[in-house]
Amino acid sequence: MCFQPPLTMQVLETSTNSTVADIVRALGPMGMLVVFGLAAFALYVVSLSLHPYAKCGRCKGMGRHKGSMFSYATRPCNSCKGRGTHPRLGRKVLFKQP
Ligand SMILES: [Zn+2]
Repeated sequence: MCFQPPLTMQVLETSTNSTVADIVRALGPMGMLVVFGLAAFALYVVSLSLHPYAKCGRCKGMGRHKGSMFSYATRPCNSCKGRGTHPRLGRKVLFKQP
């Protein structure tokens, strides 16, 4: 009788763990920062392509300004030209779009 435990899974798991640990060790704290930075940047680019516009800060996305005396009186927002949204800055820089 010779009992052999199924080592395959254990070896696989250990090697995967050590590989990740090796990568972390090789990168160091600065390298990890760069990796996380790149991941955040990738997410930012995805977000830009999905949502290229941001709410206008001047009119809070309303597109117009209310008069202070006559609250029914409005004029289009100068900053966003009445659209209530602005193209995001990253879109100009990364995609070369206005
Ligand atoms: Zn505005």
